[in-house]
Amino acid sequence: MNPTRATLAVIGAGAKAVAVAAKAAELRDMGVDAPDVVAVERSGVAANWQSGGGWTDGSHRLGTGPEKDVGFPYRSSLVPRRNAELDERMTRHSWQAYLVSTGQFAEWIDRGRPAPTHRRWSQYLRWVAQDVGMSVVHGEVESISIDDHRWALRTAETTVHADGVMVTGPGQPERSVLPGNPRVMSIAQFWHHAAQHDRIAAERVAVIGGGETAASMLNELFRHRVSTITVISPSVTLFTRGESFFENTLFSDPTGWVGLTLAERRDALARTDRGVFSARVQEALLADDRIRHLRGRVAHAVARDDRIRLTLSTNTSGEAVETVHGFDLVIDGSGADPLWFLPLFTQDALDVLELGLGRALTGESLQESIGYDLALEHVHPKLFLPGLSGLTQGPGFPNLSCLGLMSDRVLGADLLDLSTRRLDEHQSVR
Ligand SMILES: Cc1cc2nc3c(=O)[nH]c(=O)nc-3n(C[C@H](O)[C@H](O)[C@H](O)COP(=O)(O)OP(=O)(O)OC[C@H]3O[C@@H](n4cnc5c(N)ncnc54)[C@H](O)[C@@H]3O)c2cc1C
Repeated sequence: MNPTRATLAVIGAGAKAVAVAAKAAELRDMGVDAPDVVAVERSGVAANWQSGGGWTDGSHRLGTGPEKDVGFPYRSSLVPRRNAELDERMTRHSWQAYLVSTGQFAEWIDRGRPAPTHRRWSQYLRWVAQDVGMSVVHGEVESISIDDHRWALRTAETTVHADGVMVTGPGQPERSVLPGNPRVMSIAQFWHHAAQHDRIAAERVAVIGGGETAASMLNELFRHRVSTITVISPSVTLFTRGESFFENTLFSDPTGWVGLTLAERRDALARTDRGVFSARVQEALLADDRIRHLRGRVAHAVARDDRIRLTLSTNTSGEAVETVHGFDLVIDGSGADPLWFLPLFTQDALDVLELGLGRALTGESLQESIGYDLALEHVHPKLFLPGLSGLTQGPGFPNLSCLGLMSDRVLGADLLDLSTRRLDEHQSVR
């Protein structure tokens, strides 16, 4: 590691860390300054795409095309007059380069370019990470504080100091409304069963949560011996994601995004991103008469008479109504939480965030304060939150839709910008 170069620490060695590390490595090979990228990972590189990571059994398939790989959309704008060279270098880390290098390219083409399984996708990400020599510190980040104008990420074994931090990943899949009860499964417990090929047998099953996490669990549940599956989510119904060319381009190319009003952006996100199921999953849902949707938020859960009773609260005509429903098995899919990292921040670090936000720290204030570089505006040292950047910067940044653009934005940020840091300090003293 170069002591004069800035360090960017990434919490989680997943798709985003690999994309940023690959581009930083290529920039350095071109003689262009780029930060040292260090991923701090509690499990292994691309762990969330394998069984054991808690989000999949590894054999389900990627929803987006694999060509949306770590360099996509190959339109770098970081190095004036040399962006074509940077893009050409990034193609060496593409999905197709991986297939060619591992002797799978012709077969993939002949099979009609199928969506890879999550496990295969993880192998691709590992191949890139290894190829670019991504630096990985093993350990779970347990706290994030500020130490002499730098971030300090503490794991049980070590402390990583960095000039910028990027948070990734969907959260912790171990969450459960009734921990320890055998009739309630967390996302991780569900996928553990699936990976062991344990057949779930239950009459009435509830899946809490809409969106991609619940969708992939439903896809798996179809194969088990269950009589009814009730999907519980606060939305009016189970919406289908818009997946036409026009919707897809919003994800790959957010150029027009900032020109939309916040209300228009929220509307677009609701149709394409949050709490919607892909057309592929909806087709399977339609064909299966075991599936029902129940609108509401789970207020609490109790175990009684061999059943789990869930109290749902619904807002009907402005009035909160509570109803109770009994299930034989509850799968709590609500672990995906874009704010999962907040409890890791120490009070002094939270104060710095709040000072930068200029208002109370909430999910909304964080989302609305994310700037062009996907970091919180007016917060130093830099905190990159691509998972929350959909609203202000474009819906593709939180997911796999434009990893190459995401890495451009993050690596284009000035991590050592002392002038703004001093200005902000001055403002905070006043
Ligand atoms: C089942 C499923 C399927 C999905 N399919 C798609 C898809 O097809 N297309 C798409 O665009 N998006 C998809 N998504 C959304 C997906 O989460 C993101 O697109 C993608 O994973 C984001 O990459 P990432 O780098 O942010 O996180 P990840 O690749 O999830 O990596 C996060 C990493 O952080 C680590 N970690 C977590 N907490 C800590 C900690 N405290 N300390 C250290 N390490 C930690 C984890 O072990 C993990 O390796 C899917 C999500 C799920 C759950």
